[in-house]
Amino acid sequence: MTSPSATLTVDRDALAANLRAVEAACRAEVAPVVKADAYGLGLPQVLPTFLEQGARAFFVARTAEGERLREMLGGRSAEIFVLDGVAPGRAARLCAADLIPVLNDAGEAEVWRTLGDGRACAVHVDTGLNRLGFRPEQAADLARDLGGLRVELVMSHLACGSEPKHPLNRAQLEAFRAVRSLFPGARASLANSAGAFLGAEYGFDLARPGVSLYGGGPFERPDPRIAAVATFSAPILQVRRVPPGESVGYGASYTADRDRDVAIVGAGYADGVLRAAFPSGAVWFDGAPRPLLGRVSMDLIAIDVSDCPAARPGELVELFGSNLPVDEAAAMAGTIAYELLTSVGPRVTRVAA
Ligand SMILES: *Cc1c(COP(=O)(O)O)cnc(C)c1O
Repeated sequence: MTSPSATLTVDRDALAANLRAVEAACRAEVAPVVKADAYGLGLPQVLPTFLEQGARAFFVARTAEGERLREMLGGRSAEIFVLDGVAPGRAARLCAADLIPVLNDAGEAEVWRTLGDGRACAVHVDTGLNRLGFRPEQAADLARDLGGLRVELVMSHLACGSEPKHPLNRAQLEAFRAVRSLFPGARASLANSAGAFLGAEYGFDLARPGVSLYGGGPFERPDPRIAAVATFSAPILQVRRVPPGESVGYGASYTADRDRDVAIVGAGYADGVLRAAFPSGAVWFDGAPRPLLGRVSMDLIAIDVSDCPAARPGELVELFGSNLPVDEAAAMAGTIAYELLTSVGPRVTRVAA
């Protein structure tokens, strides 16, 4: 008998549907953000669907991620934007892999002028997040004298997009409108997943969604417009009866109040089951959520399958997916879908179906 292992399965139809849903919401071209191995789902598992759906621009964080994407594209043409920008020692690699740096300050602009071989760049303007990018007045200085830079895209990033009523959203929108007018030849991009669902005025030319393509709601909770894409499953390895008064797992943190049937499942924190999932967490099995019993260990969790005769070795439980939304599973561990998805470990098999 071949025993199943922990697996992250990408539903390609759902992935395509989410791309269309984001596009419909913001009425802009969708450039998928595929940093961190496509939010943990696996670049090879998602790229064919994005290409089939007509995506021709992508965002990554690191140069190495861009190089990998360029290689996976084979000969197919696509724009690859690198959010980290350019450092002097990176310019040659960006040029060699035909990557477009997203410049963050005047120093990077100077590096790209001298080492960028006349190639296109993007400009990141910080309108309120205070993370990467030119301040608006610095962007105005740049726009006044590009010094030969070919600015293909001007972008900014929302701080509070996942809170639609937050006043910073509109303030950033207004600031971005002013900034983009300084670069009349460039396309404009403001919206991440959340921004795309704030309304078409946030769409500009290009949207940069990540999490909602991969099944996370734009507002950090399940959203009817977004389909589950990633299903994280793991096999039951053993089922045991624990009598009342005995404890389960490290630290004896759970004690059975009565006879409990406990399924030991082959996924632990090394696979991306967050240790903080206990005591609030649950997995989905046989039509219902099944609470975690005791601490998450490196390779295993224990779940309550009392009164659940379907629980047998080899059966698969769902850690998140179409029955247990990734946003809900994340909330049970005190975090957000982004962290849960990108925590899925390297020994978990990735497949697309
Ligand atoms: C990660 C990232 C995105 C994608 O954000 P989501 O919230 O996952 O849609 C877009 N833009 C920038 C600058 C990012 O860093």
